[in-house]
Amino acid sequence: IIIIKEAVIEARCPVCSEILLEPVTMPCGHSVCLHCFQRTVKLISLCCPLCRLRVSSWARQQSREKSLVNTELWELVRLSHPERCRRRLEQRDREIADGGSEDLTYYIIRSLK
Ligand SMILES: [Zn+2]
Ligand SMILES: [Zn+2]
Repeated sequence: IIIIKEAVIEARCPVCSEILLEPVTMPCGHSVCLHCFQRTVKLISLCCPLCRLRVSSWARQQSREKSLVNTELWELVRLSHPERCRRRLEQRDREIADGGSEDLTYYIIRSLK
C-alpha cells in the first residue's frame, strides 16, 4: 500500500522522467512505463534498470499472461494525472505511428526463445 501511495505522488518514471504510462512494476517494486521497460529490456537484457535485478523469468511469465502492466497502479496514475496521461498517450501514439516502437510481447517471446 505504501509503495502504491508513493508511486502515485511521484507518478514519475525513473527512466524517462515523465509520467508513468502503463506502468510495469517489477518484482523488486520498481516501476517504469511500458515503453521504457521495452527499451531497457533491449538495452540491458532483462534486468531492472534501477537495481539490476534479473526479471527475465518474471517478464516471460507476465507477458504470457498478458499482465505486464500494473493495471491497478495505471488506474491510480490516470485518476491522479488525467491531463498529463492524455498528453503522453497522444505523444506515444505519434511515436508508434512513426514506426519507432515495437510490440513488447513479441520482443520478449523472441528474446527468450
Ligand atoms: Zn518511462
Ligand atoms: Zn528494481
